[in-house]
Amino acid sequence: MHKLFNYRFGSCVKRHFSVSGKLHKDVPSYKVAIIGTGPAGFYTAHHLFAKANAFRLHIDFLEKLPAPFGLSRYGVAPDHPEVKNCDEYLINIMKNQSDPSKNSLNHGINFFGNIDVGKDVTLKELQQNYHSIVLSYGTDTDNDLKIPGAELEGVFPARQFVNWYNSHPDYSSPTNFKPPPLEKVENATIIGNGNVALDIARILLADPKSYWSPTDIHTEAFEKLENSSVKNVNIVARRGLLESAFTNKEIRELFEISKAEGIQFLPIEESIFKSVEPFENSLGRADKRKLALLKKYSPKQLSEGYGKSWSLKFLLSPLEIKKNEQDEELVSATVFQVNQLTHDSLTGSTNIKPVEGETVVIKNELVISSIGYKGAQLPGFEELGILFDSKNNRLANIGGRILSFPHEKTHGHSYKRGWYTSGWIQSGPKGVIATTMMKAFDTAENLIEDLKNGIHTSASPDSLDNFHAKLYEKQAVSWTGWSKLDEHEIAEGLKRGKSRYKESITEEMLKIANK
Ligand code: FAD
Repeated sequence: MHKLFNYRFGSCVKRHFSVSGKLHKDVPSYKVAIIGTGPAGFYTAHHLFAKANAFRLHIDFLEKLPAPFGLSRYGVAPDHPEVKNCDEYLINIMKNQSDPSKNSLNHGINFFGNIDVGKDVTLKELQQNYHSIVLSYGTDTDNDLKIPGAELEGVFPARQFVNWYNSHPDYSSPTNFKPPPLEKVENATIIGNGNVALDIARILLADPKSYWSPTDIHTEAFEKLENSSVKNVNIVARRGLLESAFTNKEIRELFEISKAEGIQFLPIEESIFKSVEPFENSLGRADKRKLALLKKYSPKQLSEGYGKSWSLKFLLSPLEIKKNEQDEELVSATVFQVNQLTHDSLTGSTNIKPVEGETVVIKNELVISSIGYKGAQLPGFEELGILFDSKNNRLANIGGRILSFPHEKTHGHSYKRGWYTSGWIQSGPKGVIATTMMKAFDTAENLIEDLKNGIHTSASPDSLDNFHAKLYEKQAVSWTGWSKLDEHEIAEGLKRGKSRYKESITEEMLKIANK
């Protein structure tokens, strides 16, 4: 039996002694489940503990994977380790709860990894066991490219490619995923130009040995990159230059790496710069800087004898991806519809419309579609009346309070008592970690307010012992288990001159965690 971490209460009101031994007045106790341990999950927990000074909380994290941290571990690019510093929030939450000086109210906390909510445990069970449930399970499915040829072997959704190079256990090859045959690819097209597209471009372009080898990139991805024959990467967007989804910081980074490594950035077409001329005087600061950056780095002439190159292409919508007749692992080209900008002077908005009959064909053997992640429902929503907003890819909610099906009498939506959401599944799959944090704090604030007003599920006040026992029967990984895996990965990384060697096979991860 696993050792439970600071777990000991069940009823709703308990007599509470502080570390000094003085008797606090009776404080109510509440049990909270947080589903998912990405930034949204742990920032919500952080804020709940920070604000719960009128009662004692027992928080259980339920996480699908054996490892915590969500996209901080499985999304953020391996060359951005500083972004992953946010993980410290979760580490500190787990640490502080066992330190009486930092936990005078004796809050409780557990981490249960390898628990797929909706499969290993039902939502109904959560409702029976916890006073408040926070759904922070992210948006882990693909936004499909709905064009002919999108189903071909040589076309990859960015999410899958990213998961693979970040050692996500659901995308470990050869069992779960067949990575792109980079050794056979000369031209790659990335559809979409957000920061994820730029992450992928860096992966394909930067030198594997000097740039990627010291990072925690998946070793198989590293080997594939070493043998890669990718020479040219086109990043293609359907909208104009000023509507680019990348941030200035990220595009500058790619320009700087290109400069340092002798990778040629191909000139942006003159017509694209021309298309923004009418708006130049009315641009805001960030857009002005974006335009200046692109002008500065768009070369007047090409360097001699360059090896790799990349380009930014605008106003092109994908129409079709062409099969490669010689090799079914590859594709041969992508056909794009040419667009033009239209400006609505009434609303001030800029849109695009197709230029009739004008198409462009880009030769490519590999296509990566980077058009966003997608949210999905968990099994059991229907039964509990939890409302999913498919149009916006998120749970229907107001300020993190989940909405329920319309009530006959109210003719409107009502709150699903005791149910909350935070992170990408709350607001849709967009936004950096800082935004995710701010929204998670709001959700926590509202949850606390509800508890103060006695708003929660009608969970039984019994202890969670039986429920926890069930989780361990399902091979839950405790925080102690994860810590073993963490130490193992760092030690193995050290041996290989890497910041971390990430295990990517679930069975192996469980074996190490349960040692
Ligand atoms: P997630 O991080 O996805 O966490 C969700 C968690 O829920 C995961 O751990 C998942 O395993 C778990 N889960 C899923 N289903 C279940 C289930 N059924 N039961 C239990 N658990 C479940 N932001 C930056 O600030 N800087 C960057 O450099 C940056 N790079 C990014 C790169 C990529 C490729 C992507 C996609 C995003 C990037 N972001 C970056 C954005 C950042 O990752 C998000 O803002 C943040 O991770 C969203 O947090 P979340 O907790 O909502 O979702």
